[in-house]
Amino acid sequence: RSGFCSETKTFHSLSPPVPLPSPSLPLPFPSFVFSFLPSPLPSHPAYIDPATGFSLSFPDLLSQVHSLTTHLHSRISKGDVVLVLSPAGLTVPVLYFALLSLGAVVSPANPASTSHEISRLVSISKPSLAFVTSSTSHKLPPELPFILLDSSDFKSFLEPLQNNNYGEFDTDVNRVIYQSDPAAILYSSGTTGRVKGVMITHRNFIAGLAPLVAAVRNCTIPAVLMLTVPLFHIYGFVYVLKTLALGETVVMQTERFNARQTLRIVEQFRVTNLPLAPPALLALVRIAEEEGLKWDLSSLQMVYCSGAPLGKELIYRFSRCFPNVQFGQGYGMTESAGGCFRLYGQEGTKYTGSVGRLVSGCEAKIVDPVTGVALPPSSPGEIWIRGQQIMKGYVGDVESTSTTIDHEGWLKTGDLGFINDDGFLFVVDRLKELIKCRGYQVPPVELEDLLQMHPDITEAAVIPYPDEEAGQVPMAFIVKRTGSNLNEKQIKDFISEKVAPYKRIRHAFFIDSIPKNLSGKILRRKLRELASVRMGSR
Ligand code: AMP
Repeated sequence: RSGFCSETKTFHSLSPPVPLPSPSLPLPFPSFVFSFLPSPLPSHPAYIDPATGFSLSFPDLLSQVHSLTTHLHSRISKGDVVLVLSPAGLTVPVLYFALLSLGAVVSPANPASTSHEISRLVSISKPSLAFVTSSTSHKLPPELPFILLDSSDFKSFLEPLQNNNYGEFDTDVNRVIYQSDPAAILYSSGTTGRVKGVMITHRNFIAGLAPLVAAVRNCTIPAVLMLTVPLFHIYGFVYVLKTLALGETVVMQTERFNARQTLRIVEQFRVTNLPLAPPALLALVRIAEEEGLKWDLSSLQMVYCSGAPLGKELIYRFSRCFPNVQFGQGYGMTESAGGCFRLYGQEGTKYTGSVGRLVSGCEAKIVDPVTGVALPPSSPGEIWIRGQQIMKGYVGDVESTSTTIDHEGWLKTGDLGFINDDGFLFVVDRLKELIKCRGYQVPPVELEDLLQMHPDITEAAVIPYPDEEAGQVPMAFIVKRTGSNLNEKQIKDFISEKVAPYKRIRHAFFIDSIPKNLSGKILRRKLRELASVRMGSR
């Protein structure tokens, strides 16, 4: 029942295997997605922008992808890395599909990043071109050529071509793109250190999508999915592309998340599925508890949460407020190109708090972090995962790749958890250094580097501190130069200028020295204990 094999000490998926295309077949991810489209194409919209009321039908979407691919053909070669720095909008999935069809490596980044952060990402992925909007273009390094997504030139690239030949649902770019070719570089700090470029192949995306298509293919009524998660994060990147294969309509939240507005949109567009990050779930529950639900939410069937830990209590509160809505969870990482464990509806009521069972094609091990020994069901240890979804590696960083993925292909997640006798995973804690604030990654080392640039700071350490709304927020411990008058506000301001808002330091404390072990590694656990003491005496 747990899928555990006592010989190999490995957990297998209990779902039936889903056949994948032969790995040697040239097949870019968009062609795999388009191959599921029915003929004739669905008559409902593929994407809707609720802020403007604009929508894209399935034929329009394919026509735009075809036109854009044709226009960009001479400008972008196979293997070129292309940075995308854009707020969510209907052109983003069109651009992703076109770039992937051309064999370009799509590298989406958070449009809220500062120029300083963008330069770092550019130095990792080395793009030769960027797609930006007029609100983000000023953040690019000056030498990087760019195309403005909100320019009339770009809009003309989307106009239908005279000889619109997308009948085969293929983009027909005359380029051989193998499944093993890189498709995207997303950014993650992994289990330690600074941000890195996660190289994901077409095969990784195909392996992630295939079990989902198999699971929903029998649904007669296509879902209307509202996407509130960012399109540059693996969660949104995969969602916005895969929904097309499922014949779903995506209502795309293009404005800053606002729970009341989300509920209004659910009512207006008869949304059935709502994937969220935990802070957004909390916001919905709070409105329901404090004001009651004044909207007609009878269409809503499933709310799905992923990307960061979720307390059991919040799940109970959700079920009390939304008794007719099923609740699902998922667990995965950027490095696993999306979810490896999933929990759907009914199962969830039996094991509240679990992030679900292994998806088809994935395996897991639970490994004692000290001895490295693989453990049986119900024993907590580091979660390792393996499968064809797992990234190729970190771009230009052989060392980090080999410490994260072992020689047998196991990805070490840096998360602590156990799998019970029925194969359900519970994530218990995080062993890695990462802070997750509102579902976004904040690598502590990045903030420590910046703090150390301050002339009055001799040493700094940054750790996560629990926060009801954001999940976790960055907290800094600072050793200041003798005689300095530096105060907490100055530290916060110093960082705020340099980072995206979710990375800002929320609490800072002065300390005589940073606790370290003999090899100089920061003892973060000690700091976590100290954090509660210091916060308690505030
Ligand atoms: P990212 O690469 O940004 O998706 O971050 C992946 C990390 O987020 C995981 O390694 C976990 O630490 C955390 N995470 C993602 N989903 C969950 C979940 N359902 N429960 C607990 N932690 C999660």
